[in-house]
Amino acid sequence: MTQNRLSIADPIRTNDIMRKYKLRAKKSLGQNFLTNEKVLDDIVDASGLKSDEIAIEIGPGIGALTEKLAQVAEKVFAFEIDDNLIPVLADTLQYYDNIEVINQDILKVDLDKFVEEKGLQGKTIKVVANLPYYITTPIMLNLINSDYPFQSLVLMMQKEVAERITANPGHREYGSLSIAVQTQMNARIDRIVGSKSFIPRPKVDSAVAVLDRLPKDQIDIEDPVFFNKLIRSSFMQKRKSLMNNLLNWLGRTDENREKIKNVFEKCDIAENARGEQVSIEQFKKMAIEFSKK
Ligand code: SAM
Repeated sequence: MTQNRLSIADPIRTNDIMRKYKLRAKKSLGQNFLTNEKVLDDIVDASGLKSDEIAIEIGPGIGALTEKLAQVAEKVFAFEIDDNLIPVLADTLQYYDNIEVINQDILKVDLDKFVEEKGLQGKTIKVVANLPYYITTPIMLNLINSDYPFQSLVLMMQKEVAERITANPGHREYGSLSIAVQTQMNARIDRIVGSKSFIPRPKVDSAVAVLDRLPKDQIDIEDPVFFNKLIRSSFMQKRKSLMNNLLNWLGRTDENREKIKNVFEKCDIAENARGEQVSIEQFKKMAIEFSKK
């Protein structure tokens, strides 16, 4: 029975738990605990989790989001790096029999192997997390590029990163990260979250980003290694023109300049364009044209 207990996210209960266990949020581990129930409910709604689906959570903290996920999903696997939080979670989540807390650094987990070991292949697995902000990008890219195609990722992150991953060409925030994400996922911002929703308050605003995997036939990059090199080189120096960045990469010769000009023409890209003006489709076409030479 859960009716008479305050949710873990209730500020009174969060403070009680922190006092009981003499917890001090560790800045170095990005510990900012969510204490706004409406935000938590919105995160769970955005995930659309159903009773036959699996949730993977990164960084359960003291369990505020974990308990909400357990109330809707078949099973929740929650990876927490901080040893001190493991007994706390065993206490706060004791009323749920569909949660497994795993005391591991998420960046060291082989997620494909994990899915296999737990016999979860074929299941719909959604990743839902209030991320530790100091490692937002590596966690997100690992999840996107993992061999197991997680259907959707609902991730709380710094607002600034959420704006970068959802940015379209022509926007200041559009760059290599937007492209790395949007070639695989449909990305949108579900909501902005102010710092008052956390204990302790982070210095930045946050946003809940929803990333849904694109259908297979839309993920059509033949040589991902070359494509990634092209993207990284194109945005190496954001203020420089695309031509200049590509010449830095390929070598500043007349032959390369001609080659790039030809590719630009085929892709309908102006000679003085900057990377931030070029669409993902144009980058994909560029990769194909370069590999023809
Ligand atoms: N989910 C909780 C909430 O919403 O209140 C806590 C979120 S807090 C922003 C981030 C959590 O990630 C912390 O509990 C922190 O200890 C954990 N964490 C930090 N680095 C981690 C890592 N490499 N692997 C797993 N968990 C990590």
